[in-house]
Amino acid sequence: MCAIVGVFGAKKASTVAYYALFSMQHRGQEATGISVSNGEKITIYKKRGMVNDVFSQETLNSLEGSCAVGHNRYSTAGSASAGDAQPVFAKYKLGEISVVHNGNLINKQEVRDELISNGAIFQTDMDTENIIHLIAKSQKKSLVNRIKDMLTKIEGAYCLAIQSRKKMFVIRDRFGIRPLSLGKLKDGGYMVSSETCAFNLSGATFVRDIKPGEMLTFEEGKEPKSEMVFDNIDFHPCAFEYIYFSRPDSIIDGTNVYQARLETGKRLAKETPADVDLVLPVPDSGVAAARGYAEALGVPFEMGIVRNHYVGRTFIEPTQSIRDIKVKMKLSPIQHLIEGKRVAIIDDSLVRGTTSKQIVRMLLEAGAKEVHMRIAAPEIKYPCRYGIDTPTEEELISSSHTVEEVREIIGATSLGFLSIEGLKESLGKERNYSLVSFDGKYFAGGSKNSPSCGDS
Ligand code: AMP
Repeated sequence: MCAIVGVFGAKKASTVAYYALFSMQHRGQEATGISVSNGEKITIYKKRGMVNDVFSQETLNSLEGSCAVGHNRYSTAGSASAGDAQPVFAKYKLGEISVVHNGNLINKQEVRDELISNGAIFQTDMDTENIIHLIAKSQKKSLVNRIKDMLTKIEGAYCLAIQSRKKMFVIRDRFGIRPLSLGKLKDGGYMVSSETCAFNLSGATFVRDIKPGEMLTFEEGKEPKSEMVFDNIDFHPCAFEYIYFSRPDSIIDGTNVYQARLETGKRLAKETPADVDLVLPVPDSGVAAARGYAEALGVPFEMGIVRNHYVGRTFIEPTQSIRDIKVKMKLSPIQHLIEGKRVAIIDDSLVRGTTSKQIVRMLLEAGAKEVHMRIAAPEIKYPCRYGIDTPTEEELISSSHTVEEVREIIGATSLGFLSIEGLKESLGKERNYSLVSFDGKYFAGGSKNSPSCGDS
């Protein structure tokens, strides 16, 4: 998952990057970092933790320069070390570079094995380090040609921002799997970020999305230079960005995320309607889809479950008498609304089935007469290797159970999923989406059985 930002030509690039990373905290909470260049040298600060905890005014003041690249890291199993934070910085033959990366390289191991057999040493598990090594070892004379050389050797999902002391390069892979947009700053500079929600807070206006296979070069005194660095473009934006991952106020490749979720809800109502008195969302993930579902059925929509926003980790062991303590600490039903009613409860996706099971039980305990679970996405049957953190196939309940079996496990009166066709139509049928979680079909090499996302 992860978020990246790149800022060029700003008075205080680190502050712009900070606000962008703050707005994209949902894309990664494990670690964060910003690297700045003042034209002479690169300075970097990165640490485990959330954006607001890691950066102070003092830290931002120490990061002086008009170019910045920044990153929020999403924690994936077995890769929680502090060293895995980004940006990744290196001194090499041509000077200094800093790299940030969102996505997942599917040929990471092959590339790494070859680099190691040629004498390279690695300090982290991140595929971003492969990128730095490939640039450093390239025999091309200029950085831009070294970057192009590196791009011929990596495969998979990536959005990259690469900073040298004087320039910034931004690249989106030829499939356009992860989102990346360009914005213009009020003082004349530019920024790129994984999501457009970052522009609002950083004071930038949206210019356009970076095209799949495009590289933008930023240099002082010049307008950004666009170059298509691949001739085999095969656009496959990730459907999961719309379903779950991105913020509802973001616009990805021309489609607003909230609107897309609303459409999935409407379509869900057509495909799998429920005869109910009330439609409730699972807060906050199911809100937009539930609005669409209720509107299409003409049934009242109610925020019938309250979410406590202050839940962090708890180390207190639950007693036998309080079942499902974790979900109860987070979610609480409004009994007054639910008692005696037939309700439809809508979530954006069902992964292991644990959340649904607990919510169904909670609603029945609150007196619901019937609980009809509806999921505004198709059944998730396969892990994603392009950077969405899904568990192994064994843990994905829908990979080994039919809809009826899942219904029984979660204890719902009925259960319905959106069809793959319905999802495509809700998002806009004219595109080929990346749907690997649902159909297991990889388009950028590799098979569905390879390791899941290690560095996203
Ligand atoms: P589960 O309880 O395992 O079925 O998870 C379903 C819940 O997890 C839904 O409320 C989703 O909004 C949320 N979800 C879906 N995908 C992910 C993901 N990749 N990481 C974390 N949460 C997710």
